[in-house]
Amino acid sequence: MPPSDSRGFRTRSIHAGQYRDEATGSVITPLFLTSTYEQPAPGEHTGYEYSRSGNPTRAAFEACIANLEGARYGFATASGNLATGTAMFLLKAGDHVVASDDLYGGTVRLFDQLFTAFGIAFSYVDMTNIDNLRGAMQSNTRMVWVETPSNPLTKIIDIVAAAEIAHAHEALLAVDNTFLSPAFQRPIELGADLVVHSTTKYLGGHSDLVAGVMVTDDDALGERLAYISNALGIIQATFDAWLSLRSLKTLDVRMKAHERNALSLAQFLSDHDKVQRVYYPGLPSHPQHALATRQMSGYGGMLSFDIKGGLDAARRVLQATEVFTLAESLGGVESLIEHPALMTHASMPQAMREAAGLTDSLIRVSVGIEDIDDLKNDLENALAHA
Ligand SMILES: *Cc1c(COP(=O)(O)O)cnc(C)c1O
Repeated sequence: MPPSDSRGFRTRSIHAGQYRDEATGSVITPLFLTSTYEQPAPGEHTGYEYSRSGNPTRAAFEACIANLEGARYGFATASGNLATGTAMFLLKAGDHVVASDDLYGGTVRLFDQLFTAFGIAFSYVDMTNIDNLRGAMQSNTRMVWVETPSNPLTKIIDIVAAAEIAHAHEALLAVDNTFLSPAFQRPIELGADLVVHSTTKYLGGHSDLVAGVMVTDDDALGERLAYISNALGIIQATFDAWLSLRSLKTLDVRMKAHERNALSLAQFLSDHDKVQRVYYPGLPSHPQHALATRQMSGYGGMLSFDIKGGLDAARRVLQATEVFTLAESLGGVESLIEHPALMTHASMPQAMREAAGLTDSLIRVSVGIEDIDDLKNDLENALAHA
């Protein structure tokens, strides 16, 4: 379906995979809270037999997000981490994964603390220099794991180049697309085999659910993931799938509003004398601005900045904001602020954190869609406490 679906992104986000209840004509896809389905005859079914294997509400969300990513198969999971963890079941003992070095902390924990015990080895490299990926590939490398833009330093990795290297070694390329969503980046169209999301973030968009999803356009991979998903029972709760589907309808509108505010705040912070450095791919000063512009259709709503004065100054700023909420997570309509070293990335080994440049003076912001003047005033006031 999706490759021949020539309708625009917003139209597809509102209609793809979705249907009405025929009995009532409900404009919205129903929420099917059922575990099982009546069979017309023993062993015959309507396409649905048990809700671990498939549920029509969840299927609508999966079809819609797959369509938006330019793909055919979606698998909704109970969390973003579970999407990542399920993808690891594509591997077996003895396999090797090359991952980017500036990853979501929970992903590193999952790889190093759980999957190494199953005999899977992980190497972390700075893929902003794609030669580092080339150099890290081994004869047993079966997967390349990329997060771009990275969290929290907004490093950009060239997806087309990563796909070429992965495929030359018969490895899969998986991209964590949480930070941009398909509104701004479609890795499968750039050569990736698998996309994962924390739906908790921009896809959900309202900080009211925890969920994830995997997407692929490859038939064999789709079949394998369906098997693994059903075997493990990774499923997203039906109500969360319904909420996620609802949220996709405004994804493009929200992403553009996030981006407009983020760009404005990035410029404001760049000019601020309490700020040492701003990380935002939309700034021409970002070291990979050109690649970002080529590979992404928007720069997203996430930015980080190093504040002058170290940890103490950072603590004071974080406790002084009123519109920005001090909290982990990202991607909701409300602005959040946090300290990666003490919060989201605290589970990352300190040596790895420091090597990746996650200093004690680094502050991360998830820019919401509030009025920009209120966001600027709030940061201006908070920075005065630095
Ligand atoms: C939050 C996040 C995850 C994990 O998702 P959960 O829904 O919290 O399990 C994975 N990758 C990135 C980039 C994230 O921001």
